[in-house]
Amino acid sequence: MSATLGRPLKGFVADTISFSNVDGPGNRFVVFLQGCNFDCVACHNPQTIPGHQPLEGFDPHHLGVDDLLERIRPAAPFVRGITASGGEATQQPTFLHALFAAVKAEPALAHLTCFVDSNGATEQGVWDDLAPVMDGAMIDLKCLDPDIHHQMTGQPNGEVLASIGHLQRLGLLYEVRLLIMAGVNDDPGLVRRTAEWLAAVNPEMRIKLIGFRAHGARPHDPPLVEPTPEALLTVADLLRQVADFNICVV
Ligand code: SF4
Repeated sequence: MSATLGRPLKGFVADTISFSNVDGPGNRFVVFLQGCNFDCVACHNPQTIPGHQPLEGFDPHHLGVDDLLERIRPAAPFVRGITASGGEATQQPTFLHALFAAVKAEPALAHLTCFVDSNGATEQGVWDDLAPVMDGAMIDLKCLDPDIHHQMTGQPNGEVLASIGHLQRLGLLYEVRLLIMAGVNDDPGLVRRTAEWLAAVNPEMRIKLIGFRAHGARPHDPPLVEPTPEALLTVADLLRQVADFNICVV
């Protein structure tokens, strides 16, 4: 087991689920790491944002890599891989690397691909360190416009944009996820600029278009508005006018 200053390396883990078909390619075991460097108005898992204990009514645990391997082994014959999500998984890069390296090193688990579901707000060096043990990343781009991005997340988007470009260069960008909020980031001119920026990275990029859902998000004043299915298809059409993206609307 990896160790830091003689102590076993532990991850701060919000939860795990054995089967998910919405967290990367195929059916996947998902590890939700606790703590996030964003504070998104649309967050559906706000209990995973704080990087500390205790949280009332919520009980994240400090777990070792071996603890997680014990949970992964029974699911391994039935999943294509594992995905580290959050919270923000890259906030615990040493643990993430140790977990993926351990999966790759164990013959019974070595067939599992290791993916990261990330808000992209991390240094490029984190991706460089993870690259030898990871197989792909799904990156959220909340908004290309830095001011709107700040309103949506409380943080700038420079690292997010840099991560998308860097992962593409590393051959590890599996998908970019665009969260669409009605009246916030669905302006046609903004969508077109976003499409042009993404096309410059990869004109055949896999894009998942996600409509904001109010259920599960924290109350907001004024209330946040869900896009209609028609509005989402309009955004998808705008994107397709710019490049031959591989777009999935959910
Ligand atoms: S990046 Fe994800 S986990 Fe973090 S606050 Fe935003 S929606 Fe929530």
